[in-house]
Amino acid sequence: MFKQKFNKLLIGTNNKGKLREIKNLLPKSLKIHSISKFKLKSPVENGKSFKENSLIKSKYFSEKTGLTCLADDSGLEIDLLDKSPGIYSARWAGKHQNFSKAIKKVYRELNKKNKNWKNKKIKARFICALSISYLDKKIACVLGKVEGYISDKPKGKNGFGYDPIFIPLKKRKTFGEMKPSQKYKMDHRYQAFKKIKKFL
Ligand code: IMP
Repeated sequence: MFKQKFNKLLIGTNNKGKLREIKNLLPKSLKIHSISKFKLKSPVENGKSFKENSLIKSKYFSEKTGLTCLADDSGLEIDLLDKSPGIYSARWAGKHQNFSKAIKKVYRELNKKNKNWKNKKIKARFICALSISYLDKKIACVLGKVEGYISDKPKGKNGFGYDPIFIPLKKRKTFGEMKPSQKYKMDHRYQAFKKIKKFL
């Protein structure tokens, strides 16, 4: 199998929540660079899937910096909403990444689909595509998932994004109510990392 060893890795995200989580999952021997010091804007994510968007980012940031880059694309799929917000998860929060607005939109859309949704289990999952690229060359690209359902109200102040409304399968708490250490051990990024670890 193709195996690449690096001692330096650029993390291609402008999202501080994700950067923190990703750093925690990486081997301590790797020297991590973040894109903030390169003052780079994120590229247009016009892919049709999480994997495509992740590769757009890892290739773009690698080409801009000359460093091997790990990037992710992630989001929340809700079955009753035909898998929305999906790859548009960040866009539902608007230009200022306001997640109370995005969460209100989730509840509005669920109400439109079924007024009685609070009495049902609304299946959902977080998905994370992780890719590693060097310049325009893909080194690896994998997908991780965590299945669960939507809470009938937002709960908890931990985490970020849609964490307050997502309850993972077989748990009672939302990701927003869990300690970060508990969430990190089960979430979609962790599942994707387990698959991409062998390329690091
Ligand atoms: P992107 O991957 O930067 O395009 O954005 C994905 C969006 O999905 C983020 O803005 C998050 O709000 C949301 N998202 C991804 N992972 C998580 C998570 O672990 N918890 C809560 N929201 C998440």
